Amino acid sequence: MKIVFHPLMRESYDNTPAGAPGRLDSAINVFRNHRGYQLTTPEPASENDILQAHSLPVLNRVKGEDDASHSGQPYKMAALAAGGAILTADIAVKGQPAFGLIRPPGHHASRNSYWGFCYFNNIAIAVLHLLSHGLISSAFILDFDLHFGDGTVNILGGDRRVIIHNPEGHGDDNYLSDVKLALDNSPDVDIIAASAGFDEYEHCWGHNLSTDAFRRIGRLVFEFAQQRCGGRRFGLLEGGYNHEDLGRNILAFCEGMQGK
Ligand SMILES: [Zn+2]
Repeated sequence: MKIVFHPLMRESYDNTPAGAPGRLDSAINVFRNHRGYQLTTPEPASENDILQAHSLPVLNRVKGEDDASHSGQPYKMAALAAGGAILTADIAVKGQPAFGLIRPPGHHASRNSYWGFCYFNNIAIAVLHLLSHGLISSAFILDFDLHFGDGTVNILGGDRRVIIHNPEGHGDDNYLSDVKLALDNSPDVDIIAASAGFDEYEHCWGHNLSTDAFRRIGRLVFEFAQQRCGGRRFGLLEGGYNHEDLGRNILAFCEGMQGK
């Protein structure tokens, strides 16, 4: 399975918890040392790609963050994350599962604004890339981050080609039931994309889900993809702030996405 990752993403780029030093280290180690995963390097997204999801003032404001920042280059990293999302989607649309090990996250970035550690909406940019190139005509976005993906809803909520679901539920079983119900009730689509946040984890901010729950979510994505959208599936990292356990949680989700 392909893991989309750029070595620059090791570096901190802002003072938010998402940009913290060392945040991706456990995940990088897991995928370097686990058979069956290949790291692949993305290019930054073009301005045209970013403008599919965002207004020009937002693009220009994020560019300005690089001059204002004392702790890194948020624009450079955000463009790379969006490019990583596009590459992940391009792999997935050919029927291979893929995961974007990217940061900054994106699901709080709206067409005309951004907040919540996000700059550009990676998943919206990726899905709009596939739609605008005629590679898909519909998508299901499963956002299992602890926080509501307001930016994704802002950009794609009114688009009849896209279904967005943010599950909720206390404990693994309740949460998994919500995910399953939403997938069961979905019409057939051309691809399933996960905004994969790991901050619902029991040892992270949400104090809710176990590592095994992330594997089970991945498995539901796998089964949905096999039955409903020709195996086309991908995930993109959103939140997740337990540095030590982030790697094993992402691995659990990726194993599940392969039906393991
Ligand atoms: Zn979150």
